[in-house]
Amino acid sequence: MYENEVERIASKGSNQEIYFELLQLTKDIMQQKGRIQGKKKIYYISAEFLIGKLLSNNLINLGIYGQVADALKRHGKSMAEIEEIEKEPSLGNGGLGRLAACFLDSIATLGLPGDGIGLNYHLGLFKQEFDKNLQKEVPNPWITDKSWLRRTDVSYPVLLGGNKVQSVMYEIDVTGYDNQCNTLKLFDLDTVDDSIVHQGSIYFDKDNVTKNLTLFLYPDDSDYQGQLLRIYQQYFMVSNAAQLIIDEAVAKGSNLYDLPEYAVIQINDTHPTMVIPEMIRLLNNRGISMDDAISIVSRMCAYTNHTILAEALEKWPLWFLDRVVPQLIPIIKMLDVKVKEKYQDERVYIIDKEERVHMAHIDIHYGFSVNGVAALHTQILEDSELKPFKDIYPDKFNNKTNGITFRRWLLHCNHELSDFITEKIGAGYKKDAAELEKLAAAAGNSSDLKKLLDIKAEKKAQFKEYLLKKEGITIRENSIFDVQVKRLHEYKRQQMNALYIIYKYMQIKAGNKPKTPITMIFGAKAAPAYTIAKDIIHLILCLSEVIKKDAEVSPYLQVVMLENYNVTYAEKVIPAADISEQISLASKEASGTGNMKFMLNGAVTIGTEDGANVEIHQFVGDENIYIFGESSNEVIEHYAKTDYSSEKFYDNDAEIAKLVDFIISKEMFSVGDKKSLIRLYMELVTKDWFMTLLDIKDYIKVKEQAFADYENREEWAKKMLANISKAGFFSSDRTIAQYNQDIWKL
Ligand SMILES: *Cc1c(COP(=O)(O)O)cnc(C)c1O
Repeated sequence: MYENEVERIASKGSNQEIYFELLQLTKDIMQQKGRIQGKKKIYYISAEFLIGKLLSNNLINLGIYGQVADALKRHGKSMAEIEEIEKEPSLGNGGLGRLAACFLDSIATLGLPGDGIGLNYHLGLFKQEFDKNLQKEVPNPWITDKSWLRRTDVSYPVLLGGNKVQSVMYEIDVTGYDNQCNTLKLFDLDTVDDSIVHQGSIYFDKDNVTKNLTLFLYPDDSDYQGQLLRIYQQYFMVSNAAQLIIDEAVAKGSNLYDLPEYAVIQINDTHPTMVIPEMIRLLNNRGISMDDAISIVSRMCAYTNHTILAEALEKWPLWFLDRVVPQLIPIIKMLDVKVKEKYQDERVYIIDKEERVHMAHIDIHYGFSVNGVAALHTQILEDSELKPFKDIYPDKFNNKTNGITFRRWLLHCNHELSDFITEKIGAGYKKDAAELEKLAAAAGNSSDLKKLLDIKAEKKAQFKEYLLKKEGITIRENSIFDVQVKRLHEYKRQQMNALYIIYKYMQIKAGNKPKTPITMIFGAKAAPAYTIAKDIIHLILCLSEVIKKDAEVSPYLQVVMLENYNVTYAEKVIPAADISEQISLASKEASGTGNMKFMLNGAVTIGTEDGANVEIHQFVGDENIYIFGESSNEVIEHYAKTDYSSEKFYDNDAEIAKLVDFIISKEMFSVGDKKSLIRLYMELVTKDWFMTLLDIKDYIKVKEQAFADYENREEWAKKMLANISKAGFFSSDRTIAQYNQDIWKL
């Protein structure tokens, strides 16, 4: 099918032309495929959808990727250069948004009726640039004339601060692998005005919500107006969602009392929480009693918790909500009164003594399911963070360990490896990831292991080329690629990895040179107002420069920080990685999904027993992962007893002090900003809330072991093979099948 069409397109002159024609062809085919149908539908509401570029993925899922790639090749073109034309949508931030995107792929692949609902941020999250070794944030406009977005005539009235606005809905088709389509629905306002953003910065006039509502994902909320804007965004998202859900159910014959037979809502973190009171309000407006409305909505909504970090659990002052959504206040108060009548325990109140509204508490009381995103995370929720709720609602709690779509994170980003796997065990694993297990037995001989190493070398060479072209940086393709790419946060401990770099630098200076040179690769955006996170980026960039300028060290050690790390970059660097850095402070990383992408692509993990690392460890066994650091129970105890003192570690251990002191050395001052480096140094020595110094020595020891083991290439290849063949559990197809079985019941 489509041979003539594909041939005609491939013969076009410019890459631009080819891209736009392929875009149109793909959209046409997806339209012809039709929508997945069914009485009951899952609505996945999320502030973020980090979907990545779509062309290749859609072609793979439609089954015509090979055909298109071949046609291009015959005309002297490559898929890679065509892909360069596509802009990556900037609708997400990190793991939570990427998870939503993987889920949409798997929901469609499993043939389940299910749509994503979010917002159409014009300028996305910010784009990161480096200037004088510092992060700069600039707008990231991603919407072009011709794109995957399709404007619809669906439109709803929404009350913002008492004024009515009229929304517009856009759609992006989501095609399942060898299946029909669902859609991602993105709401917007026609009045939003990109021109109010100050040239080259992410700041704008926050006064006029009809002009700024959907400009940015996570706009600056360091002031009162910025916080109100976040609430406006959240309400706009869920009011549209609630109206759409009711409309679609009614169109299918619902009498509203039976709404839970037509729709189930997954609330992705607390951002969409207001869908609960909004849905109750809308049903009440249609003549349904309050009690009935509460009962109906409570049987429709399920909540996913993504973090135990206190600062990430939303608590809005009641009077903020009153400014933005006065229509919801009576409902939220009523929901709170009902809770207080039933339970005399402050810890489960919706509105606390300080008149703050705990969004997660609304979800837990008035939803029918609460899930964590990895076994350890769910256990911590049940045993400590949400224990009072677990005691009230023992049956609501359940675990859904995260997953990733193998279409994007293997078939698309690593053709070489997926072809090898297909050759060894057939193509069944593409639909049933559990079949990957067969690989361990099928590919264990020396020539297979050699082939695995060759594929890794090929992906490293490709990444080297890409990096050179994109940033003008040259790396050694024969070095060890040690990669830590993820959002920048103290709990993820990029600063600990930086201390290792200082250690290695000093070792090399002292004459202890590594057998194989090491390339440390980072990629991370820091939230614009998160000062220490930006200081850590500064530290890494400065280390990179110091080492580069040092002729004694630079032949053996190189540090690279990728600019503007995003999905496109992830797809290039992860297949090239030898070592996957997953070194969060135990108990703090709810799951992680980067860890799964690396494992699937044959990188070996250095990690703490945190999030899904625990499950990865169980699957691959002690020999195929490098585990270090204190356990989550020990860490939780440190917090409870407040007995961790970084100052003590610093004062009592000269080796640790030497590493930390280097941050404020003359070498560092010669390339960096003194104020930033001193601030970070002080933070590490006097606060260190995420306990870097607690685990640094164990980390160094284990990392040295990993580098030593790397030298035995065949043994290392066995570790790679074990990781790939045990990755099946981490397919998001498995995760979604479990959501459906236990929660959605479609
Ligand atoms: C997978 C992914 C993440 C999440 O990475 P973690 O290591 O799980 O935090 C963040 N950003 C991008 C671009 C990703 O692809």
